[in-house]
Amino acid sequence: MDNKIRLDIVTPYGLILSEDVDELTATGSEGEFGVLPGHVPFITTLKIGMLIIKKGGKVEYVFVSSGYAEVTFEKVVVLADSAEKAEDIDVSRAEAARKRAEERLAQAEKYDFGRATAAVERATIRIQIAVKKTAR
Ligand code: ATP
Repeated sequence: MDNKIRLDIVTPYGLILSEDVDELTATGSEGEFGVLPGHVPFITTLKIGMLIIKKGGKVEYVFVSSGYAEVTFEKVVVLADSAEKAEDIDVSRAEAARKRAEERLAQAEKYDFGRATAAVERATIRIQIAVKKTAR
């Protein structure tokens, strides 16, 4: 389709999103990158972060846990460990997850520091995205 790019977000839990968008921004391991239709093909790993999707004058936010993005001329496929659209984020669950992970960080000798840090990051970004949705 002219001036649109297809975005598919796939996780082990299912297809989270499949739509034609105008533009998207994601957090790659080398930093943020933007994709417009006709972008040069590439593959990158993704960090825990948010996808910012522009579509018909609207902006949507999607949480993406770590994974990969494959960009071709007409399509972006995101393969992530988990992903949720802003409206599907359960804020209480994210707050509970953050509290649990922070308690683990405080007992570093008992828990895996890297896992707890990643859990804090996931929960914090989920909360940020959910707040953006309600602030619109
Ligand atoms: P938790 O400790 O609450 O499970 P987590 O970061 O360990 O959080 P993930 O492993 O990233 O969770 O995701 C497991 C599944 O639960 C995925 O389907 C993900 O989309 C969903 N999920 C996790 N947290 C939330 C949330 N706050 N709101 C909605 N869905 C969530």
